[in-house]
Amino acid sequence: MPVLLLTNDDGVHATGLRALADALDELGEVYVVAPEREQSASSHALTLHRPLRVARVRERWFAVNGTPSDCVNLGVLGFLPARPVLVASGVNHGSNLGDDVTYSGTVAAAMEGTLLGVPSIAVSLVDGGDVAEAARIARLIATRVLVAGLPRKTLLNVNVPAAPPRGIRLTRLGHRMYTGKVVEQLDPRGRAYYWIAGGEPEWGALEGTDMGAVHEGYAAVTPLHLDLTDDRALAEMAAWSPALNAQYRRLRTGKKS
Ligand code: MN
Repeated sequence: MPVLLLTNDDGVHATGLRALADALDELGEVYVVAPEREQSASSHALTLHRPLRVARVRERWFAVNGTPSDCVNLGVLGFLPARPVLVASGVNHGSNLGDDVTYSGTVAAAMEGTLLGVPSIAVSLVDGGDVAEAARIARLIATRVLVAGLPRKTLLNVNVPAAPPRGIRLTRLGHRMYTGKVVEQLDPRGRAYYWIAGGEPEWGALEGTDMGAVHEGYAAVTPLHLDLTDDRALAEMAAWSPALNAQYRRLRTGKKS
């Protein structure tokens, strides 16, 4: 039986994780290695300066005092009896759409799996949605990934709407308009504190995006690539290199530029 590694960022006791494990059970031997506590918005953090402890919750379920990426690292690089054929992260309680994926611990777990060479998916459900339905979508996508594979350095970010999906769309990431403000208030001792609040998120053009698909009642599947190099910018910035080097040479020889 192939080994599947499941994790999340809502913690090992989250109902979304249980639903995902139930749904993927028939695809292989499901192992859960998940944070012992909620780690939402932990992004891609790794724990490098204190020991990680693994506590067995029940058969093939383990809780780790670390981040989602720690869990994937442990699972893929030696804790499991075999290298997993798939990493699945979720089902996250709440969507991970557009630019928000850069904060997401759910998506970062799939990034970690991808960086370690294992096909990986992240699955998130809009607040109020049916977690069993999201898990069914996850099984569909996972099955396809196991059969067809994924391009190198590519993961799938799946978002399921609150109402039963009208279908599944392949999408691109939407873009958030950052209109929020930091809220400054005074604590009881008269010192300022700050709250990263942000009002209701506002979004740019929805056409073809994950946000647009979910808004129209479809599950969104967005392939994300982990080569963050901007090739277009690299080409556009070709003139920077001689200019910077000329300036640097003048700097080193002590002449004013
Ligand atoms: Mn979460």
